[in-house]
Parts: sequence; C-alpha cells; structure tokens
Amino acid sequence: MVEEKTTVDMETLVSLCKRRGFIFQSSEIYGGVGGSWDYGPFGVELKRNIKNVWWRDIVQRRDDIVGLDAGILMHPRVWEASGHVESFTDPLVDCKNCKKRFRADHVEEGVCPECGGELTEPRLFNLMLKTFLGPVEDDASLTYLRPETAQGMFVNFGNVLEASRRKLPFGIAQIGKAFRNEITPRNFTFRTREFEQMEIEYFVKPGTDEEWHQRWVEERFEWYAKYGIGREFLRLREHEGDELAHYSKATHDIEYLFPFGWAELEGISNRTDFDLRQHALSSGREMTYFDEESGTHIVPYIIEPSGGVDRAALAFLVDAYREEKVRKRKRVVLSFHPELAPVKVAVLPLLRNRPELVALAKEIAADLRLHVMTMYDDTASIGRLYRRQDEIGTPFCVTVDVESLEDTAVTIRERDSMEQTRVPIPEVKDNLLARLGTV
Ligand code: ATP
Repeated sequence: MVEEKTTVDMETLVSLCKRRGFIFQSSEIYGGVGGSWDYGPFGVELKRNIKNVWWRDIVQRRDDIVGLDAGILMHPRVWEASGHVESFTDPLVDCKNCKKRFRADHVEEGVCPECGGELTEPRLFNLMLKTFLGPVEDDASLTYLRPETAQGMFVNFGNVLEASRRKLPFGIAQIGKAFRNEITPRNFTFRTREFEQMEIEYFVKPGTDEEWHQRWVEERFEWYAKYGIGREFLRLREHEGDELAHYSKATHDIEYLFPFGWAELEGISNRTDFDLRQHALSSGREMTYFDEESGTHIVPYIIEPSGGVDRAALAFLVDAYREEKVRKRKRVVLSFHPELAPVKVAVLPLLRNRPELVALAKEIAADLRLHVMTMYDDTASIGRLYRRQDEIGTPFCVTVDVESLEDTAVTIRERDSMEQTRVPIPEVKDNLLARLGTV
C-alpha cells in the first residue's frame, strides 16, 4: 500500500462531496444561488457530529459553561449598540466593464480579476442582510438576520447569570446560523452568505483577561488536533493593530492550510468589556456582576472563541482525504476521526441473491443501529461496496459471507489499514463499540 498524496484539490473534493452526498449546490435545478450550500445525507451527519462533539466538550464536560439558543431575529437596536450598523462593512469595488463586484482586499489594485477591466474606487458595503418584521416594509420594521450568534449571548448575560447562579469566570455557548451578505462568496463552503457558528462568550474578571485569552487559544487549537487535523496544517496568527475589529484588544486566528492557502477556521478575541458596556448604555439596563471579594459591581471582560461549523467541516473533509494505490488501483479514503465519521459501521452481505445471508446481515445491522449510525448496503459487488464506504469515511465494514451461516462469525474490515478480522456474531457489537471509542 502506497500513500500517494494526502492533499486534495478543491475540484476533486467538490465533486466527491456531490457524488457521495456530502454537499450540494443550493437550488441547483434553478442554476444555484451564490453563497449557500445544502448538506446531503452524509454531510448533515458530519456537521451534526462536529456540533455534538463541540457541545459535549464545551458544555457537557465543563462545569463553567452553559448553553443558549437565542433567536436569529433580534431587536434592531442590538445591531446599533454592537457597532454592526456603523462598521460591519467591507470595502467594495465594481468593474466598470463587466459590472461585477469584488472585495477590494481580494483583488489586485485597479484590475478586474474576471475581465481585466478598470475598477471603481472602494466604497463601504454593509454585510448585514436586511429583513422586515411584520407586514409593512418601512424603517420602523427593519431589522437584520444576525451576522453572528454572539449578541444573543451578550444581551442574555443578566438572564443567564440570574438563572444559573454562576460565578466568574463562566461562559455561555451557542451554536446557530448567521448570515452575511458577503460580496464575493467563494472557495466552496468556506465563505458563504448563510453559515453556522459555534461560539463561546467567556466572562472573566478584568485583569485576568489576557491569561484566559491565552488559555482559550491553546485549548481551541488542541480541539482541532484532537479530532484528527494534522498539526502541520494548523497555525496561529495574531491580528495586527489595523486588522483588529473595533471591539477587540487582541485576536488570534486558528488557520488551516486549505487547498487555496492558509485561512481562518476560528478567531479567539479578547473583546474586553466593550459589549456589555455598549448594551448597558443603549438599553439603560445594568450589565454588571457583583464581585463578593471586592464588594463592588464590575463589568466582566469577555474572551470569545468563535468558530464556523461549515469551515470546520470543510477542514475535516480536506484533512481526511487520502488517495492510495492498492494493488495498482487507486483507493480514495476519507480518514475521519471515528467520532466525526457520518456512518460508523456498514453491514454488507457478500452475495445479495442468498436470502439467508441478506437476512442475517439485516439482523446484524438492525442491532447495531440501536447504538451507532449504521448502513446496510447490498447494491453492488463487495469491492465496490468497500470503495463506497471508504469514500464516505466509514471506519468499519462488517461482511457477512457464506461461512457466516456455519461458523456464526463475520469479517470486520478496518477502513485505514484494511485489516480484516473474523469475529463471532454475538461479539460484533461490543467489538465495534470498543474500537469506535467513546461514540
Ligand atoms: P473572514 O475574515 O474570513 O471574513 P471573520 O474574521 O469576519 O472571517 P468572524 O467574524 O471572526 O470571521 O467569525 C467567526 C467565525 O465564523 C469564522 O472564524 C468562520 O469560521 C465563521 N465565518 C465567518 N464568516 C463566514 C462566512 N462568510 N462563511 C462561513 N463561515 C464564516
């Protein structure tokens, strides 16, 4: 077995994602829509697994973070207080010739990347998607689809504090959709107009913020490595002064080496007390914490690890991709971490025209399905069935053959090593669950 290459070009990945049912273009039958993608049967599993392990690691397994699920629609004044109405903008340039629009920092000065035409001077363009609440479309009913989940956690700071009786430091975590009217959505699911975020707002005492910031940067970096991303493809990048967002004292990006270059997976910012102060000022409500130690009301500082589910999914897909030569034939494998793999086990009868084999295989699959995502497939020859499972990253295949009827055992094939072991049927479930780890 020779591993030929582990990096994949985007075209190959996009085509695999469509062919195997990970990601489809939105509204494809109408020619597609820019910046929106649909997750197919295996893509939705991958995404759910990413969100589940994140939630488990952040909320379930920690004592200091609680969850929240705030609405996508919020009071329009939230976006004034947050600074989004005023400064959530990108510089935009138009091509005078082909009329296409680009982000000024994505193109070479003055030249259209599509037709070589002359570009206009940059103008500021607000990235928030507008919508209207109620039947009348006027200024009074105008609001926005949230461009980040963060604000839902800031405005609920008091509610969560009171309901959960937390002491500093503590955090609120949320997973949800966010919308940005990106000028140039691109690189598949990397930059889209509708996406999901996994965000933590971690409230700390002023003065301890830099230490907590550092801790979260390290922790979040390790999280990606824990679920299988090669460390050599991950790096940290600190924002320079002029790149820092208006609320940020310091931001570190965790970047992944995508086929199109290093790009941000997650940003970890020290937002200081900016957000709570802004909302207190704007709403007239107190947004403080009573510190028993000093006997005073303080405004906590906030450390924000903010990652994208879709970008994480794309990085896990890219990173899992392997092409190998097996007996002179190409084998494509997605070597997902078992916790992220969309399907954990596939049960395959060697011969689909033998009813006893099919019945036994279906029985085994039905039993496994109670515990893990299991797939039964008899629609092709065994070689093809293995190839299909390799391409969606299924860690184990259980093959039921003619001998199984006599020795009541089956063959378990492991995805990466392709090693096959004979296991008695009554032991199959425990054998697989143990090898799959904590799923
Ligand atoms: P970029 O510089 O790439 O536009 P950003 O710095 O504006 O990203 P943040 O505001 O820090 O991004 O958002 C936090 C996370 O949300 C990002 O790290 C990314 O994973 C995700 N995200 C942001 N914008 C998009 C988008 N348009 N499509 C997909 N994911 C996104």
